[in-house]
Amino acid sequence: MHGGHSGDFSKHGQDDLEPMVKAAIAFGYTTFGVTAHAPRSANKFLYSEEVEAGYTPQDLDADFANYVTEARRLQTAYADQIEILVGAEVEIVPEAAFDSEAAALRQRHKLDYIVGGVHWVNETPFDTSQEDFNTIVANTGGLEPFLLRYYDLVAAMIDRVQPEVVGHLDVPRLYAGDNTATQSAFVRQRVDAILERIAAGGMLLEINTAALRKGLTEPYPASWIVERARDAKIHFTLSDDSHSVPQVGAHIPEGQDYLLTHGVHSIYALSASGEPREIRLPR
Ligand SMILES: [Zn+2]
Ligand SMILES: [Zn+2]
Repeated sequence: MHGGHSGDFSKHGQDDLEPMVKAAIAFGYTTFGVTAHAPRSANKFLYSEEVEAGYTPQDLDADFANYVTEARRLQTAYADQIEILVGAEVEIVPEAAFDSEAAALRQRHKLDYIVGGVHWVNETPFDTSQEDFNTIVANTGGLEPFLLRYYDLVAAMIDRVQPEVVGHLDVPRLYAGDNTATQSAFVRQRVDAILERIAAGGMLLEINTAALRKGLTEPYPASWIVERARDAKIHFTLSDDSHSVPQVGAHIPEGQDYLLTHGVHSIYALSASGEPREIRLPR
C-alpha cells in the first residue's frame, strides 16, 4: 500500500517506476500502491540531495505531475496483472498549510489515495540521519518532548488530511532505538488517541517492513502499538516502502508473520473502485 518511491521522479529513489511495477508483479502482489512524496512548496523544505541537484519547488511539482502520468500509464498497461493505485505520501510542511496543499494535490491529480507519513517536526526533517535526529531532539528539550510533539503532529495530520493509510506510525524508533521514552505513559496516551482517530475514520494502519531492512527488529509500528490497534479493531495493510527494485517485497513475509504472531489474520488492500479488500494471510 505504500512503496514505489522511484528514482525517475524522486532524487532519493533508485530505480524507474516501471521495473518496480514489474518486480511487484513478479513478487506476487495483487495490489501495489505507489506513493511519490508530495511536492514541498518552499525552498526551505528541499532535501539536501535536491538542493545539490539545483531543484526548486516548481521542479518538484513538475516531477510529481510526470509521476502521475507515468503511474496512470502503468496502471492501464499492467491492469490484467496487478491493480496499481496512484497516490502520494503527504508530509506535514508547511505546518500552517499542509492540509490545504494535500487537498489541492489530491484534487488536481485525482489521486486514488493518500498515505500520511510524518517526517518533519517543527518543519525540520528528523529521519535523514542520526546526527539530524539528535539535533532536533536536543532542540525540542529531549526525547520524550520530541516524541510528544511528533505524535501531536501525526494526530493533526490525521485530522486535517484524512489519509486513507497512516504510514510508519512510530518511525522515530529508527534513531530513538528502544529507549524507554518511546513507550512512556504520555507517549502511550498520544498513541491511543491516534488509534482512536484511525479506528473512527476507518483508515488503514500500515505495517511497514522498511524498518527491518534498516536493521530494526520489528516493522513499524512496534508490537505494543500493533496489539492496541488490533484490540481497537483497526484494519492493517502491508507496505515495503520500496525505493528500488530489490526493496520491492522485501521482508513482507516477516511482516505477515509479525501480524499472525499478534493474532491478526487478515490485511486489507485499498481498491480504486471502492471498499478495502480483505486478504487472508497465509499461515
Ligand atoms: Zn522516499
Ligand atoms: Zn514516509
